[in-house]
Amino acid sequence: MRFRDAAQAVAIIALVVERVFDSYGYAAVITSAGDGQHKKDSLHYRGLALDFRMKHVASPEHKAAIVALIRELLPQCDVLHESVGTPIEHLHVEWDAK
Ligand SMILES: [Zn+2]
Repeated sequence: MRFRDAAQAVAIIALVVERVFDSYGYAAVITSAGDGQHKKDSLHYRGLALDFRMKHVASPEHKAAIVALIRELLPQCDVLHESVGTPIEHLHVEWDAK
């Protein structure tokens, strides 16, 4: 599956990630789309990245499984588990069109 543009990418990312969280019994909460504080050249500012809350996933096994499944289902994306163990722990999913 190839994405044509940013709108298509983030729509499909949101759909896939929502299903993965749901399959483990967790809500999928988008904490940042085009907003928030990111590094200067972040893909968030080009509409190519979404952040999802991770702090409500209590089980480390579930966290690892969720990350692995999202990486498997979205091989065209970079999936980064950021700020682990902090209140802003989140999953950053971006599509780098290259
Ligand atoms: Zn991010």
